[in-house]
Amino acid sequence: MTTSPLEQLTEQTAELLASIEALATIEALREAEASLTGKRSILSTLQKSLGALEPDARKAAGAELQEARRVVESALEARRVLLLRDARRASLEADRLDLGDVIVSDVHWPLSIGHPGLVALTQRELEDVFVGMGFSVADGPEVESDWFNFEALNIPPGHPARGLWDTFYVELGEPETVVLRTHTSPTQIHLMEHAVSTNTLPIHSVMPGRCYRRDTPDARHLVGFHQIEGLVVDRGISFGDLAGVIETFTRAYFGPDIASRLRPGYFPFTEPSAEFEVTCTICHGDGCRTCSDTGWIELGGCGVLDPAVLEAVGIDGDEWSGFAFGFGVDRCAQMRHQLGDMRALIENDTRFLGQFS
Ligand SMILES: [Zn+2]
Repeated sequence: MTTSPLEQLTEQTAELLASIEALATIEALREAEASLTGKRSILSTLQKSLGALEPDARKAAGAELQEARRVVESALEARRVLLLRDARRASLEADRLDLGDVIVSDVHWPLSIGHPGLVALTQRELEDVFVGMGFSVADGPEVESDWFNFEALNIPPGHPARGLWDTFYVELGEPETVVLRTHTSPTQIHLMEHAVSTNTLPIHSVMPGRCYRRDTPDARHLVGFHQIEGLVVDRGISFGDLAGVIETFTRAYFGPDIASRLRPGYFPFTEPSAEFEVTCTICHGDGCRTCSDTGWIELGGCGVLDPAVLEAVGIDGDEWSGFAFGFGVDRCAQMRHQLGDMRALIENDTRFLGQFS
């Protein structure tokens, strides 16, 4: 009688199971897989050797071998599930990012560090210029009552000028409707009321911040935009002081070859009022398409405070006088960097934004 090639099968199976148990990583399992159950494995070699057996013995040995293979394969599968789970856990553990612990040199991908956007940078530069001229910087709320945004600025309900500043009204119920401020001017009212109640006149402040109008966005208008306004309330202030501040600012911010000029204008809260223009930053005064061949570009508005505005906040117009001015921060950025379309400022295109770090 031929000796069965499966004499050692129990030991061989036990060895296979032990070596499966010893596989420590999913990579090791993948490498060992072929030698455990593949064509060159001991199981396959035994399978081939069964051909030499008598048919009956072959059948019995075949079944035995089949069972051994099933046991080995299921042990291998169980080991695979376990190792995959461990690998997954280890990977999750490794990927967990404790932001408090990140050390830049430990991060191995190209790390790009953000920076303030062009509008924020422009606002800071403008603030710096005005602080250098002796102004303080004041902040005010973006949601205002109708009183602060309009009425205290000499724009009563029904005044035609409201059409210029149409905005987003929010009904809060009685007694007041609030608005997203259309300009930073309400901060002037807050400042003056505060100075009156605390007896801290005079005022020399600039008020930068975000404003809202119901404009349709285009190359020169945005629904949300930024203004910076200035307010001076002091004794003996004249239109000449205003013109001097505008000129000093213009040369400090845009450079010595850019000048300013004032043209008569209209604002409900100043009298007289002026629109101020600066030398076209693109053609430097020679005339181009952007400035409609005038050599000048309108930047903002200004004027001497209307006595009605002083009266509304309780300032004695016989003792105090002042002026105010305002212009767009986004507009300044547009002019200084010669942006064709202001919408680039809000479109989050890093190819554009990345140029201003
Ligand atoms: Zn020009």
